[in-house]
Amino acid sequence: MLKVAIVGAAGRMGRTLVEAVSQNSSTMRVSVATVLADDPALGVDIGLLAIGAAIGVKTVAELASDESDFDVLIDFTSPEATMGHLAYCQASNKAMVIGTTGLSNYQQQAIQAVATDIPIMCAANMSVGVNLCLKLLEQAARVLGDAVDIEITEAHHRFKKDAPSGTALKMGEVIADILDRDLKECAVYGREGASEERDRKTIGFTTIRAGDIVGDHTVTFAGLGERVEVTHKASSRMTFASGAIRAVKWIAEKESGLYSMQDVLGL
Ligand code: NAD
Repeated sequence: MLKVAIVGAAGRMGRTLVEAVSQNSSTMRVSVATVLADDPALGVDIGLLAIGAAIGVKTVAELASDESDFDVLIDFTSPEATMGHLAYCQASNKAMVIGTTGLSNYQQQAIQAVATDIPIMCAANMSVGVNLCLKLLEQAARVLGDAVDIEITEAHHRFKKDAPSGTALKMGEVIADILDRDLKECAVYGREGASEERDRKTIGFTTIRAGDIVGDHTVTFAGLGERVEVTHKASSRMTFASGAIRAVKWIAEKESGLYSMQDVLGL
């Protein structure tokens, strides 16, 4: 039976992850659930908050080596919090599944460095559909290449803090890699004040933040006379949580190293 620590357990994804782990009770259980020290959910049974039934795990404010017994930690929190959890898992030799987005280059490098000591699966989007889309985008970019204009549009709920989404950036990176472009140089974020025609080699990003949209992404490859659009729409956070559960089972068997959701899915 795998023991799973869920950090940020009172968050939108945290609660969904608790629900997903309870749906896999034959193979895993939540053994630790953390929330911020000032969260009203501190000390509450996380099952009551997430699935309306106690599971015998009260939330704590911090991971502590004498009390926090787990095999794999799932982290969907904030970049700063993830850095703290990374140091804890390195020191205690535990595996991690990281879904936090908005990580800086420096923070991504820190994850890569720690992955020489422990197994880490880090993905800006854990849904099977989005990871399939990444493969489709590689193919589309290979076929349509520099002949088309490429634009990435994403929409998320009003509470999302980072923009563009980690998924949109990942989509841009995948396409830029195939086309031998550097996303840092070719990305255009919004076009206010633009006074020249579009440069074919750019990749444009548009961000929408509204209401309770779980996560929509569309990549448009537009030429003169036709366009191809690859779209993914998430309608439930359970799609991300189910991917994280798959990753937990997979990474529990792995040696140290940095892995992607594509590795988990064998894509
Ligand atoms: P949220 O704000 O609802 O939840 C984050 C929770 O983490 C909050 O409850 C916050 O209090 C808690 N937290 C922050 N620091 C903490 C700490 N040090 N210890 C314990 N708890 C802490 O946000 P969300 O919508 O659940 O998203 C969380 C992250 O996951 C975001 O970066 C989001 O973009 C990302 N996300 C990734 C995927 C994916 O598939 N990879 C899918 C959805 C969301």
